[in-house]
Amino acid sequence: MQDPQPSASHFIDGAPVEDAAGASIDCIYPATGEKIATLHGATSQIVDRALDAAHRAGPAWAAMSGTERGRILTRAAHIMRERNAELSELETLDTGKPLQETLVADATSGADALEYFGGLAASITGTHQQLGEDWVYTVREPLGVCVAIGAWNYPTQIACWKAAPALACGNTVVFKPSETTPLCALKVAEILKEAGLPDGVFNVVQGHGDVGAALVADDRVAKVSLTGSVPTGRKVYAAAAEGIKSVTMELGGKSPLVVFDDADLDKAVSGAILGNFYSSGQICSNGTRVFVQEGIREAFLSRLGERLEGVVMGDPLDPEVNFGPMVSERQMEIVLGFIEKGREEGARLASGGGRAPREGFYIEPTVFADVTDDMLIAREEIFGPVLSVLSFATEEEALARANATPYGLSAGVFTSDLTRAHRMAKGFEAGTCFINHYNVAPVEAPFGGAKASGVGRENSRAAIEHYTQLKSVYVGMGDVEAPY
Ligand code: NAD
Repeated sequence: MQDPQPSASHFIDGAPVEDAAGASIDCIYPATGEKIATLHGATSQIVDRALDAAHRAGPAWAAMSGTERGRILTRAAHIMRERNAELSELETLDTGKPLQETLVADATSGADALEYFGGLAASITGTHQQLGEDWVYTVREPLGVCVAIGAWNYPTQIACWKAAPALACGNTVVFKPSETTPLCALKVAEILKEAGLPDGVFNVVQGHGDVGAALVADDRVAKVSLTGSVPTGRKVYAAAAEGIKSVTMELGGKSPLVVFDDADLDKAVSGAILGNFYSSGQICSNGTRVFVQEGIREAFLSRLGERLEGVVMGDPLDPEVNFGPMVSERQMEIVLGFIEKGREEGARLASGGGRAPREGFYIEPTVFADVTDDMLIAREEIFGPVLSVLSFATEEEALARANATPYGLSAGVFTSDLTRAHRMAKGFEAGTCFINHYNVAPVEAPFGGAKASGVGRENSRAAIEHYTQLKSVYVGMGDVEAPY
């Protein structure tokens, strides 16, 4: 197995950089609770060096043609795929997610983003509008230095989902990973350099929220992209507003998954599993409020119970294991607190309900039935393997209750009625809707939240709009008429 300890905590101006004066960040392997690496948070000097490097590298990077920039991103995608086994192992050590998942969902989706935006880079263009003899053309220009701040659930993917469109558009990036999962972004930086990325174009600095806040506040920064919780999003959005900076906010959710009685039951149960237990439930778009139509509620619960017998909990590095621990002891305690609250509020425990009897931060996949809209477990984001089943009678009722939340990240519907499926998708107040599927996020589709779940979109061509600004150029071809 690789040694997860990186050679240095930060990656600045094309090279690893250490400054032991920064606060210690221990990297804990969630499956055992052991410390596997120690890094240091950025001091103010490190923050300054990273921003300076990104600022200096900007003009030359922006001046390269899209084809040249895209070629580097595409090369990085190939390197990531070649090194998938090693990167997946590191992702597993960083997060505790099973290798069975990381081999197919992390470096691979990061590579998809690099390849997709690498391909788009050459075709980022403005428009031309004829106005009689005069004309206007637009230029899509980069914003400048982008600060990107990540959550801990998908450290490789988040780094790539932010870096790929930002770099394709000619921006430079300072990325701050979550303090809980500091390892993977350093590999992304190394790979981009190996692919030919000029020094200073992509930098990584470690640290807690204070380091993120220092980055966001700096005058050299033009744009902030955060993946995190709604409370952090509020703070970061407000801080960015002080400097009138552009933002992308990928925040939390409490998404609904509606299962009608005409749905294919097994497919719906699969959707509920993908939307609640993949990555041990630590996914922002999870459909944690599963509304099941009254007539099939018990059949749904019983099939879900049978399918959960297929859970193989254990060492995430064992390829047979399909269910890992929570990312940290703290996250485990938060989730156990919600489970306790669900019990107290009178929800019926149908599966799981506690810490698994083994070392590490494991929680059993937990299903609550008879959940009502007012219960805390139906209102707040849990970010763990806790599924709530609520029942409903009519389509109108299901839609109204599905939307009765401040969040709006995702929503799903399982039904065999084509028109109903599209009516629901139209009615859902959510950035991403799924019909007869759940939690698939291909790079070709825009991803982001409605309502409190976010601002802006990642992935797809839509991301280009969030990493560029339009300049209009009016071209006068004739006389200039002036009143005096
Ligand atoms: P978090 O909000 O605690 O932290 C996110 C990041 O923000 C971390 O890197 C943290 O250090 C940094 N941060 C904290 N305070 C800051 C401040 N004042 N200024 C600047 N940066 C600051 O989130 P988390 O616990 O790491 O991740 C879980 C949350 O992320 C969940 O709510 C989840 O839904 C959300 N999430 C959203 C998406 C999405 O795409 N919508 C994806 C993954 C996770």
